[in-house]
Amino acid sequence: MKLISIVVPCWNEEEVIPFFYDEMNKTLNAFGKECDDVEFELIFVDDGSKDKTLELIKSYAKNDSRIRYVSFSRNFGKEAALYAGFENAKGDYVACMDVDLQDPPGLLPEMYRAVSDEGYDSVATRRVTRKGEPPIRSFFARRFYALMDKICSTEVVDGARDYRMMTRQMTDAVLSMGDYNRFTKGIYGWVGFKTKWLEFENIERVAGETKWSFWKLLIYAIEGIIAFSTVPLEIIAWIGGALTGISFIFTIAAIICLITGIWGSLPLVIAVIMFFGSMNILAVGIAALYLSKTYLETKGRPLYIAKELT
Ligand code: UDP
Ligand code: MG
Repeated sequence: MKLISIVVPCWNEEEVIPFFYDEMNKTLNAFGKECDDVEFELIFVDDGSKDKTLELIKSYAKNDSRIRYVSFSRNFGKEAALYAGFENAKGDYVACMDVDLQDPPGLLPEMYRAVSDEGYDSVATRRVTRKGEPPIRSFFARRFYALMDKICSTEVVDGARDYRMMTRQMTDAVLSMGDYNRFTKGIYGWVGFKTKWLEFENIERVAGETKWSFWKLLIYAIEGIIAFSTVPLEIIAWIGGALTGISFIFTIAAIICLITGIWGSLPLVIAVIMFFGSMNILAVGIAALYLSKTYLETKGRPLYIAKELT
């Protein structure tokens, strides 16, 4: 028998959980009938909910032995909830999905087939449309992914959802990344492995409201960039270097022009001020280069992740 763990982060989701449970129950029962060598565990992670989320989860867990849960002492955020779910998952395959049914459970059998039979290590999903989302949010989301693509060492796919299924090996690799400022979407790319992408149209929340305000998303986006790119730090050194070079040439020219009487002394004063200003930026930039290396060291990420060994 193969065990599939499904991690479900929940924060104040009392309105949605009954819909989710009904839908999942139907899907998993049908799936279990179709494939008689799979079992399931549903791991709900209550991310410090203040409503009846935990009570609901407990009541379902009482009657359904497939359900387990982790309940946080306060709201730690979805990233922490996913980590906790992965850490507690016992499955040979581990999936994660939102509780609001924006991630269609009907894809689970196809995902399972890809990781069990088709040789993939993970199956990820992305939505190809953002229908139903405020246009301004979609606009900034697109810009964010384009920027991430340019400055990050790891690939982050536009429209990628957190909905995915992974092998035990890949789950362990994701867990070996102990990043405190976690950006799981980047971590999936960082650990590598062979991923199949499934696409679907955006589905709106079945009930309740999104937990992400525009500002929360913006902070999340900045966190994503900082977690996977040291480019913002390196830019300071480049700018400092370029300005120092330019103002050095300007200073020499101003001295020559002062001696030959073409310019007065004002350009030289400006050039000297510019030169020392640029040196300041360069000095900060050099410190930033060391900081960027130290930053990566403190993350304590594995040096490599082996997929196969003799
Ligand atoms: N969530 C969470 N902790 C948080 C925010 C969200 O566990 O601090 C969960 C939430 O309950 C849901 C999932 O993360 O299951 C996605 O949240 P939401 O649907 O609000 O995000 P959106 O789909 O709008 O991006
Ligand atoms: Mg949602």
